[in-house]
Amino acid sequence: MKVDESKCLGCGRCRAYCTMGAISFTRDARGRVCAQVDQHECVDCGVCFRAEVCPGEALYEPKPEWPRSVRSTFSNPLVEHKETRIPGRGTEEMKTNDVTGRFKWGEAGMAVEMGRPGTGARFTDIEKVAMALSSLGDIHFEPKNPLTGLMADKNTGKMNPEVMDEKVLSAIIEMTVPLDRVQDVIGAVRKVAQELSTVCSFDLTCKVHPGDTVPAFDLARKAGVSPTINGKTNVGLGKPFFEEVKQ
Ligand code: SF4
Ligand code: SF4
Repeated sequence: MKVDESKCLGCGRCRAYCTMGAISFTRDARGRVCAQVDQHECVDCGVCFRAEVCPGEALYEPKPEWPRSVRSTFSNPLVEHKETRIPGRGTEEMKTNDVTGRFKWGEAGMAVEMGRPGTGARFTDIEKVAMALSSLGDIHFEPKNPLTGLMADKNTGKMNPEVMDEKVLSAIIEMTVPLDRVQDVIGAVRKVAQELSTVCSFDLTCKVHPGDTVPAFDLARKAGVSPTINGKTNVGLGKPFFEEVKQ
């Protein structure tokens, strides 16, 4: 997002809408107060523009060029990822597993959600987490997730060097993990989280097993993580896109 200084009235209305605190004020050559957007911090989410609070119509979105374009595709919910045709973070996410069949019996679906409004997530941090995870082995990054598509090496989690200066509002690293490696993944994320300049959280799920047990929850508890009480249970009413193999 940018500000046309010739139109800006310096009213300050846009500032409260910025998800990254990227809008500040300066004086232009004629001494008038004018808004400016820190291009390093702005994630091109478009919230300030869509709020329609600018009386001077001074805010404008330049045509995004690669690699900066990843900012809006991950941060602006109105922009679709061309790989997945899904807006926002660009993934169906694990909660639709009953129809997508991403993870099978004996596997857990896991994800690390990185960044939130106020912090965002830089690709340097995303790469740190992805590389820490892949070093465990047995981790398969979700191919239908646009972050996976930005990896230069899906075996190591190394990202495309071209996007390393970019920042997004939020992104999800999704993967399939053998159930017996769930605790290792939790341990690895806890360790690498100490090196991050953003926040992250876990997603964890698996199929409901006979006896209505959810082994992933027990494994998480053993690793010292308590599932939240508002966790989701998918009751499987969707039409599967895959052939189910019964346990
Ligand atoms: S596009 Fe988003 S991050 Fe950039 S200035 Fe506007 S609200 Fe802030
Ligand atoms: S709302 Fe518009 S006119 Fe007011 S400070 Fe922001 S860019 Fe300038």
